[in-house]
Amino acid sequence: MHRETNFIVVGAGISGLAVALHLQEAGADFLLVDPKPGQGASNVAAGMLAPASEVNYDEDLMGELLRRSAKYWEIFSAKVESLSLGDTGYEKRPTMLVATERGDLDELVRLQHYHQHLNIESHLLSRREAREAEPTLTPKTIGGLYTPNDFQVDNRVVIDSLLRLFDSKQRIVRSLVSSVSSRRDGGWTLALEEESPLKCKTVILCNPMYAPEELLPSTLDARLLRFITTRPVKGDILRLKDALDQGPRLCIRSIRNGRWNYIVPRQSREVVVGATQEEISQRGSIAAKAGGVLDLLFDAVYSVPMLRELSLVEVGTGLRPGTYDNYPLVGELTPGLFIHSGHYRHGFLLAPVTAAALVSSLTDHKTYEDSSFLHHFTSILSPYRYTF
Ligand SMILES: Cc1cc2nc3c(=O)[nH]c(=O)nc-3n(C[C@H](O)[C@H](O)[C@H](O)COP(=O)(O)OP(=O)(O)OC[C@H]3O[C@@H](n4cnc5c(N)ncnc54)[C@H](O)[C@@H]3O)c2cc1C
Repeated sequence: MHRETNFIVVGAGISGLAVALHLQEAGADFLLVDPKPGQGASNVAAGMLAPASEVNYDEDLMGELLRRSAKYWEIFSAKVESLSLGDTGYEKRPTMLVATERGDLDELVRLQHYHQHLNIESHLLSRREAREAEPTLTPKTIGGLYTPNDFQVDNRVVIDSLLRLFDSKQRIVRSLVSSVSSRRDGGWTLALEEESPLKCKTVILCNPMYAPEELLPSTLDARLLRFITTRPVKGDILRLKDALDQGPRLCIRSIRNGRWNYIVPRQSREVVVGATQEEISQRGSIAAKAGGVLDLLFDAVYSVPMLRELSLVEVGTGLRPGTYDNYPLVGELTPGLFIHSGHYRHGFLLAPVTAAALVSSLTDHKTYEDSSFLHHFTSILSPYRYTF
């Protein structure tokens, strides 16, 4: 294939697919290029859309971004369904954070105070209230924090729908981009492995950048290259099958001696248990560790004992694409070359809204009426935020 197009999106995980969906909506001409579409971190994620449970202290701006992004998911899910005619696995299943030790309960109380400060809804529950809301919880539960607006999406279902949509429109080129270089006429040429090069006016990099200097033009500032280099944060995660549908009704996030664990039940009767978190070197092993799997199962069965009866069907691992400050990288690197990556722990939650904002700024089409709040984030998400 040898094609020339307006936009090329490099990487077809949730980040690139969300950009592509908004380009499609804007009527733009584009191609997605990826040797293994949908097989990166997006394939292993738990798909939680959880601003209340995921926010950390002193992250007021991140809290605001998470909250707004969660609200956008309903709109995004409807867009995916109408354009792809496929399901998204978006579920409005509330979440409960639970504790079995006094010190951990204190942590939930502190978190609830922070939610009040951020205007995020959550409610502290007594031992009895927590177990009434979720009868599968261990009798050792001493209290909970109910977060009614922390929902989920089935990561694989939404990715499949998006890939089917773009395959049906012949928008996907299955190949690795080996270099991106500028042309004299102002456009870009992308060299591909085992395929003819592609040409375009605008490139949007939605792939984690482990060695950006190998891919990008040497004219880019060396400091910029350093700051857009992705920090791989490995996560082991398990998938169980609840054949008899007797598992938890709510999404559960337990804390025990300061260590967090989550249990995400799905309509499909899959139950996802996650996740470990380990900073690894760029070329480190990504095999799951026995100790990680042990911790995940131990913590999950401790808070919901009936999980012991479910089948363990998959042990997965993935790399969260982290940045220096854990905020995504969204913006222009050099005229015609953009980045939309580094969504770290929140790729499913954040990528739709950051993609909507980016595509609105690149086309005449306003893809999200309420995205004006993202102007506040332009400099915070800019790849130049550290350097200049
Ligand atoms: C265990 C775990 C649990 C998680 N749980 C959640 C969660 O509950 N909620 C949430 O919001 N987030 C979660 N995340 C984070 C989320 O999965 C990531 O932020 C998100 O998937 C990143 O998407 P991406 O498209 O940037 O990267 P990926 O999904 O990794 O996709 C990048 C794509 O780029 C392609 N690529 C790379 N190099 C090239 C190249 N040179 N040319 C062409 N293509 C290339 C790859 O083949 C790949 O398909 C979790 C992550 C992990 C690991």
